[in-house]
Amino acid sequence: MKDSQLKLEPGDISALFDRARLRMARELRGLTQVQLAREVGSVTAGSISQFENGHTKPAASTLRRLAVALRVPPSFFAAPARPPAHEQVNGFFRSLRSTSPRDRQQALAYVHLARELALELEKYVVLPPLNLSRVPIDNENSLQLVDIEQAAAQVRHHWNVPRGPVQDVVRLLEGNGIVVVRFRVGIEKVDAFCVDFPDRPVVALGADKGLRDRSRFDVAHELGHLVLHGVAGAVGDKVTENQAHEFAAAFLMPADDIRSELPDRLDWPTFLRLKAKWHVSIAALLVRAKTLGVMDEHTYAQGWKALSVRGWRKVEPGPLGNPEGPVLLGRAVELMETTGLSFTDFVSRSGLPEADVRVLLGRDISERPRVEI
Ligand SMILES: [Zn+2]
Repeated sequence: MKDSQLKLEPGDISALFDRARLRMARELRGLTQVQLAREVGSVTAGSISQFENGHTKPAASTLRRLAVALRVPPSFFAAPARPPAHEQVNGFFRSLRSTSPRDRQQALAYVHLARELALELEKYVVLPPLNLSRVPIDNENSLQLVDIEQAAAQVRHHWNVPRGPVQDVVRLLEGNGIVVVRFRVGIEKVDAFCVDFPDRPVVALGADKGLRDRSRFDVAHELGHLVLHGVAGAVGDKVTENQAHEFAAAFLMPADDIRSELPDRLDWPTFLRLKAKWHVSIAALLVRAKTLGVMDEHTYAQGWKALSVRGWRKVEPGPLGNPEGPVLLGRAVELMETTGLSFTDFVSRSGLPEADVRVLLGRDISERPRVEI
């Protein structure tokens, strides 16, 4: 079938109008309804609110103007042929207080877009099926630390992770069907977070800080939310944050594998060697030594003070190189291209905004096709 035959006519788009898509596009651009109305010119904020509430549908001409203002193809506003899941999920944010509502909505919209991209790609290539064991934590009956250790061990076992350090945490999640994206755009105050879509959970990593150890811990932390806190979605309170942290530590540094290696004194050269072996920060190792009872409270407190005094809480010695990077979506696109469907045709069929898809894939907008010899 020719791609021109797949194109939706303006009238079709208007009939298939999906209010969630309008909101998503608006939030993607970080605009309020008032700001969008101003950009479009011929509609009021009230009408936009009505479109988003589903009270009225925009006419084809209005849709065209909305599309231009929001830099999405008009077909983006047509409902995708699948069950909607927009309203039933929450993100977990590491630090709600430092995130403005606008940044939070924009970050969430990007994650929704990443899921849409994955679902669109699945029409052409087979992605790894979602394989995630859930160990829901019951915060009413405040479970003990040991249960989180067990939950982490259970996930490692379920994924056949060999004993010792996890080689590549991002790759591990992707191989088990979880989508991971890294923001390259400046949504600054948003650190890592995840959204537990029932079909494809998405883990979003904050803008690259260049620290492999911290980034791995972030990914394991978000995995902890998915495993322990699941679809129900409590948002970033102190209890769940601590639990996700404990999960990350246990997942990256299983007690039985690391206990005998941890020093009971502030032996920095040993911590540095362990950092290089386990690909976790010195700070994380120090906390682990205390949690597992290898190091006493007093020594730990001194160690933590030393980290601050030396400035190691900001920049630690022994950098580990580039952070792990997601590859799943990029490889899916490459594979799809080998089937004869070009990236451009895919994007136009999907109705997704090309520039944003490129951002999600880490494909430079100025990228030219490469001549293979
Ligand atoms: Zn968290």
